[in-house]
Amino acid sequence: MRNKIIDGKEIASRIKKEIVSEISLIKKERKFLPKLVSLIVGDIPQTVSYCNSQRKVCLELGIEFEIIKLNENISQQQLANKIEKLNGDNLVGGIILNLPLPSHIKQYEVQNKISQLKDVECVTSRNLGELIYTDKEPKIYPCTAQAVVECLRKTRVSLKGKEIVIVGHSEIVGKPLSMLLLKSKFNSPTVTVCHISTRDLLFHTKRAEILIVAVGKPNFVNSSMIKKGSIIIDVGINKLNDSIVGDVNFNDVIKKASKITPVPGGVGAITSYLLIKNFITLCKIRD
Ligand code: NAP
Repeated sequence: MRNKIIDGKEIASRIKKEIVSEISLIKKERKFLPKLVSLIVGDIPQTVSYCNSQRKVCLELGIEFEIIKLNENISQQQLANKIEKLNGDNLVGGIILNLPLPSHIKQYEVQNKISQLKDVECVTSRNLGELIYTDKEPKIYPCTAQAVVECLRKTRVSLKGKEIVIVGHSEIVGKPLSMLLLKSKFNSPTVTVCHISTRDLLFHTKRAEILIVAVGKPNFVNSSMIKKGSIIIDVGINKLNDSIVGDVNFNDVIKKASKITPVPGGVGAITSYLLIKNFITLCKIRD
C-alpha cells in the first residue's frame, strides 16, 4: 500500500531546498529580505492556526513574519487603506489577506487592493488572469492549485487527454485549479468541475481517471464513488474528533485507487512552501 501514497512532505522538502538556496543568494547579493505580512480580520480560530503554520515555515526559512490583527468592525475603506500602506512599505515583501472576512467587507475589492507584486497568494484578478493565457508563463501560481499539480507531477502520469474530475468550485481551489490544468495547448486533460448543483456527482466521480476533491466535508468520498486504479488527490483539511482528516476516506479508498494523497502529509504539506516560493519570486521581480 505504501507505494500508492503520494508523499506531500517529500515534495515539500524538495521545494524547501530550492527556496533555501534562493534565500541565501538574495541575502548575499542584496543583504536584505523584506518581511511577509499576514492580515487577520476578526477573531477566527482556523485563521489563527493557519497563520501559526505560516509563521513556522517563515521561521524555519529565516523570513521575518508579522501577523497584523484587525478589528472585525473595520470598514471597507480602512482595510483598503491598510493594504495600500503595506503596498507602499519597502520593508514588506508580501501580503496575505486571511479569509474569511467579515460579511460587511467586499472580499473581491479588498483582495484587489493588494499590489500585484506583493500578492503572494495569487488572489488578485491580474495574477489569476494570467493563468488563462496559453502562451504566457505566469510569474506566480495559486498555492493550493499548484500543490495539486505538484502531486500529479510526482506520479509521472501524463495528463494529456486524461479525464480529470474536480469536486468543488471555490475561488481558492477548484476554479484556479481547472484553469491551471487546462493551461497547456497540447497536453491538457479534459477537466470536469463539479459543485453543489451537479446533477449526478457519482456519474462523474466514478468515471474520473484522476479525482480531485475539495469540498470541506470529512470523509466525503468513499471507495464506491471512485474508478478502480484512479489517482485520488485530497485537498480537504477537516478537524474530526481532535484529528485532521481529508475529504476522502483514505483507508477505504486506498484499496481501490492506484495513487492517493494522505491527509495530513499530502497537498497541505506543500502549499505553505509554494506561498514562500511566490514571495521569493515577487521579491526578485520587484527589485
Ligand atoms: P469552500 O469554499 O467551502 O468550497 C467547497 C466547494 O465544495 C464548493 O464549491 C461547494 O459547491 C462544493 N461542495 C460542497 N458540498 C458538495 C457536494 N455535496 N457535492 C458537490 N460539491 C460540493 O471550501 P474550500 O475553501 O475550497 O476548501 C475545501 C477544502 O479544502 C476544505 O477542507 C479546506 O480546509 C481545504 N483546503 C485545503 C488547502 C490546502 O492547502 N491543502 C487550501 C485551501 C482549502 P458550492 O459552491 O456550489 O456550494
